[in-house]
Amino acid sequence: MKIKAAKWFSPLEMRLVEVDKPAPGPWEALVRVESVGVCGSDVHYFRDGRIGENTLKEPTILGHEYAGVVEAVGTEADPTLVGRRVAVEPGIPCMHCEWCRTGHYNVCERMFFPGGPGCDGALREYMTVDARFCFPVPDGMTAAVAAMIEPAAVAVHTLELARLRPGDAVAIIGLGPVGLLTAQMAKLCGAGRVLGVDLLDYRVEAATSHGVDAAFAGHAGAPAEGGAATVAWLREKTAGRGVDVAIDCSNGPDGLALACHAARPAGRCVLTGISGRESDPLPVSLARRRELTLHWCRRFLNNYPATLALVASGRLDVASLITHSFPLERAQDAFRLVTDNADGVLKASVDF
Ligand SMILES: [Zn+2]
Ligand SMILES: [Zn+2]
Repeated sequence: MKIKAAKWFSPLEMRLVEVDKPAPGPWEALVRVESVGVCGSDVHYFRDGRIGENTLKEPTILGHEYAGVVEAVGTEADPTLVGRRVAVEPGIPCMHCEWCRTGHYNVCERMFFPGGPGCDGALREYMTVDARFCFPVPDGMTAAVAAMIEPAAVAVHTLELARLRPGDAVAIIGLGPVGLLTAQMAKLCGAGRVLGVDLLDYRVEAATSHGVDAAFAGHAGAPAEGGAATVAWLREKTAGRGVDVAIDCSNGPDGLALACHAARPAGRCVLTGISGRESDPLPVSLARRRELTLHWCRRFLNNYPATLALVASGRLDVASLITHSFPLERAQDAFRLVTDNADGVLKASVDF
């Protein structure tokens, strides 16, 4: 049987095609996909065909932020999943390597990640996925909200790495969906003040209604590259001290440098954003003089249940970040909108 899919063929070009309906293996669930969010990382593949050295070598179905209803499961999978709407944790690790066995499955080097090189993603009517990575959502949670558990789980993992102390001052660089979710999570984890910066005026305006206390529209570069005003603003807002934790949620090459400039001595930085390049500038001398601690965030690590609980209880608001919805036939328009940062977009979703 054939199903519809939106497939990437070349930069900025996606086409509606027919593909075979997948059948679940013994440990898998067959998910009827209902909603797929467009992620900042997808934009790199859509526009450039690559993220750093990860290059799409053939036409590929994109999409990894998804939710849907389980229609069937394989012989070894949990049969109670059938009929349930699930948020799907997209990356399926090998479960056998040293990193998987020692509790770091998110850095498994044999990860199957949909919507990337060699692995078709979720912009199709049916997906099969390891049933152990399907998380039933509470009744009444919409599919678009359930798909947002993916970026929200990134924010939850980011805050685990940030190890906030009560009252800490936090700077978020890049106020897209992950940045705004991270701002909310910082508040939930006890931040005293959350400052935000972004290049785009509309995001700065939206930020204060999504968990950011004060936001600044400025260049994200290091001082020498035009970020001086941004650094000056962050310093002024912290009485010259710098923030306790600076988190880069941007998709640009300068966010990490700005995080280092924003952090106080002995402060912490977390790199969560994806610049799409193989290497970015880092002010090593300043970071050493300040003895900064720098963490890199790789997606999430056992964060789906807690993230679902935060969203279900209403403490973490993901719904208001979804600004646009497109049918599968118009998936290319959804990706184009996010690529161009047009029409005030925060999160665009493709809804089936
Ligand atoms: Zn994502
Ligand atoms: Zn592994």
